[in-house]
Amino acid sequence: MNSSSGGAFTALSDVFLKQGNAVLCSIYDYSSFKPRFQLVLTFEERDCARGSKYVQADMNLAFRESVDWLESHNDRKLAFFGLGCQAASFQQYMKLSGLEDRVVIVDIICHGVPSPKIWREYAKEVSNDGIMSHVNFRDKKTGWNKSVGTAIVEGTEVSVQDYRRLYSTRNIIRPSCFACPYAKSDRDSDITIGDFWHIEKVMPDFYDPMGVSLVLIHSEKGEELFEQAKEAIESRISNENDCRQMNLEKPTDFPSTRDQFWEDYKKYGIAYIVNKYGTVKPLPQRILSKLGRALKSI
Ligand SMILES: Cc1cc2nc3c(=O)[nH]c(=O)nc-3n(C[C@H](O)[C@H](O)[C@H](O)COP(=O)(O)OP(=O)(O)OC[C@H]3O[C@@H](n4cnc5c(N)ncnc54)[C@H](O)[C@@H]3O)c2cc1C
Repeated sequence: MNSSSGGAFTALSDVFLKQGNAVLCSIYDYSSFKPRFQLVLTFEERDCARGSKYVQADMNLAFRESVDWLESHNDRKLAFFGLGCQAASFQQYMKLSGLEDRVVIVDIICHGVPSPKIWREYAKEVSNDGIMSHVNFRDKKTGWNKSVGTAIVEGTEVSVQDYRRLYSTRNIIRPSCFACPYAKSDRDSDITIGDFWHIEKVMPDFYDPMGVSLVLIHSEKGEELFEQAKEAIESRISNENDCRQMNLEKPTDFPSTRDQFWEDYKKYGIAYIVNKYGTVKPLPQRILSKLGRALKSI
């Protein structure tokens, strides 16, 4: 329930932690309203990293700390978990540090990552001067493929579904994500993990309403890690065709509303854009705006 899809991150990182190795992954930091990469050595810390955070994570000093840790633990290894761009930069850093043989790179399929500024302003607005003590961008209480955004503010659950809707409009995704060079299935990482979308159609007997992870293995190191994780998980072999999804083929499309969105935000602020782009409009209004868009495109 605490993982966003089928829990591949937990199964793979378990292997490293059980052997006294380290894991580098991002954990949400409530004081700065964004996730931060942290070196993790215990199961408790690792569990705090579970869940997809739809905000760009801060790398801060994590790369330097990883090198220091590996240099002072000569017989140990490290597994990195992060989005494609973060994984590529970490991999390059490890190559330059001469430590690449001791790291396993697991990258995560990504639709694009939103600007931290918009989430910070939204979270402050939703918290209404109260303290947000928990956030779940993909709460699976309504099921994995119908997940909702929830948070706890001053002990009370509040919805952050408007933010999820803003994310799905693609307007808050960083400009570089629309030209992402990592949005492909052939990658330089050891393993890629993500959601196995549409599994109910291609492998109905393996569908799980709480989510199934997709695991793409690219290297011998990746194969070895997966083999070690295998006894704790249920797995099936699929093929490239059945597990297709957009961001394994190309970057997310630039939305036609993006320029207007940022103009609106600069002029009127967060509450206005949440209301205009993030709320569900009554049906007649939705039909009218769809008609308007269709007429404009003729
Ligand atoms: C911004 C974003 C976009 C995504 N888009 C897609 C997509 O289009 N298609 C798809 O199949 N999957 C996508 N995912 C991946 C998916 O949502 C799950 O995170 C992934 O399948 C891992 O699930 P799990 O159950 O194994 O891990 P969990 O137990 O949920 O652990 C989540 C893992 O993701 C890491 N993580 C979470 N948020 C961030 C972040 N902001 N930056 C870096 N690392 C982070 C955590 O540190 C942890 O390692 C996306 C994830 C993110 C964060």
